[in-house]
Amino acid sequence: MRASDLLCPMPKGLYCPPGDFYIDPVAPVERALITHGHSDHARSGHAHVMATAETLDIMGLRYGAGYAGSVQIARPGETTAINGVSVRFVPAGHVLGSAQIVVEQDGTRIVASGDYKRRADATCAPFEPVECDVFITEATFGLPVFRHPDSGMEIRRLLHSVAQFPDRTHLVGAYALGKAQRVIRLLREAGYDRKIFIHGALQTLSDYYHSQGIDLGPLGPATLEKGKASDFAGEIVISTPSAFSDRWARRFADPVTCFASGWMQIRQRVRQRGVELPLILSDHADWDELTGTIREVKAPEVWVTHGREEALVRWCSLNGIAARPLHLVGYEDESE
Ligand SMILES: [Zn+2]
Repeated sequence: MRASDLLCPMPKGLYCPPGDFYIDPVAPVERALITHGHSDHARSGHAHVMATAETLDIMGLRYGAGYAGSVQIARPGETTAINGVSVRFVPAGHVLGSAQIVVEQDGTRIVASGDYKRRADATCAPFEPVECDVFITEATFGLPVFRHPDSGMEIRRLLHSVAQFPDRTHLVGAYALGKAQRVIRLLREAGYDRKIFIHGALQTLSDYYHSQGIDLGPLGPATLEKGKASDFAGEIVISTPSAFSDRWARRFADPVTCFASGWMQIRQRVRQRGVELPLILSDHADWDELTGTIREVKAPEVWVTHGREEALVRWCSLNGIAARPLHLVGYEDESE
């Protein structure tokens, strides 16, 4: 069977005609297989959703109990048949519960990897390469200029600044699902055992990570109403990036604004966001991880879903791998 008969791009997302299901559809569908809980991939309103237990829990926490008509837990590594098509969820190393989806029929195997990274991350299961005929990859950081530095080194820069400016609050912007918990976990791994204060928007997901056995250490609410701004002098406060523009953020005394994102490699973005201490921490593969993974899964063909498709498609061509961009719309590159 031709790979394009097994999975094809449609306006609502990647569609499997023989299985009659979508992967990460951007609009409500009858049957959706969801790779992970980020809101551009996991949307509410599908009649039936199949995803890992963690992704289903995260969807329930974000959208409420009625986020789908019915749900089915995908156990990592287990094969399930949907209308004669085999599907298997395999860890993607992106955020807690994230999975690649292996779709197979009549000897043709396609891996839809969703968002993924290859670096160590104690908050989720590591990416498992699966050899396949077609590898579908994102390309959020799909340019050779994107080479993420060592995560431990970025965290040490933050701790160095905390030691250097004991009278200032270090206000760290990090996305609510995955990045915030990873920053906290990295701080713990670096030996930081003080209480870390978190914005209310991070509480539910951080509690959920904790309930799943990911030790985030002592956390406290970064609530200013009751205390004085000086209470947080010398402390680390983690918040969603969007909270930076709230009145809440302006009440801290002389804050050092930090932002944990792969985009912090780009000076213009650092300036635009008024970030004093950029921390280059990404939950997406950088250029070396993308190209290394493509080599590792030995796919003769690569489809690129979203991000900077052109350079990666060109790299594949130069390396004798057939490649094409899928031009899928509706996936954001800021939600990492
Ligand atoms: Zn994601």
